[in-house]
Amino acid sequence: MNEYRHPTPEALAVSAKRSIEFFEKNGFEKIVVSIKTTDVLDFIEANRLLVKNGCDYPIHIGVTEAGIERTGSVRNAIGVGTLLQDGIGDTMRISLTADPVVEVQVAKDILKALHLYTKEPIILSCPTCARTEINVEELTNEVIRRTAHIKQPIKIVVMGCAVNGPGESQEADYGIAGGMKQGALYRKGKPIAVVPEGDLVDELIKLIQNDFK
Ligand code: SF4
Repeated sequence: MNEYRHPTPEALAVSAKRSIEFFEKNGFEKIVVSIKTTDVLDFIEANRLLVKNGCDYPIHIGVTEAGIERTGSVRNAIGVGTLLQDGIGDTMRISLTADPVVEVQVAKDILKALHLYTKEPIILSCPTCARTEINVEELTNEVIRRTAHIKQPIKIVVMGCAVNGPGESQEADYGIAGGMKQGALYRKGKPIAVVPEGDLVDELIKLIQNDFK
């Protein structure tokens, strides 16, 4: 393993404090503080120390150089999510080696998971298994795409079978519970129709549009 110098969380927090003092002495008042580090645990600890040491300026958070979409999203969800849950963080950047549009989507997803952003649907879907009788992944992506314009925190679930689908759908605003190449549509927890798989998303969207017109 390579030996390398890596700043500790304590050193990062002290460095941030010194920088703040420098800018204060030079007459700056509108300060935003950001600690940059790639290690998720150091990132969390350094920001906690920053606050513990008395920083009351806005803090910008984000795990820097977090990696490609999958790993970077996970690392930021842990780092940023933990700090937000602590009440730390006023602005954020989700740094991904990916399309910047994805960075914004991941940021929103982190905020949605913490109930801090409520202007988009919450769309859940099952992981699929041997019981799956419809194409859950395809249907879910289609639902996400066609509800992207809705600015309400409605909960939509897409489930692959009639075993667990009804239960989850009963706890959602809208639901699909798959059957053999068909599915039951739910609205406000109640089953309202059984339609062929190919029509499920169209019929679901009609229901939603009818409720939000
Ligand atoms: S909802 Fe049904 S198909 Fe989906 S993972 Fe659960 S048991 Fe499997």
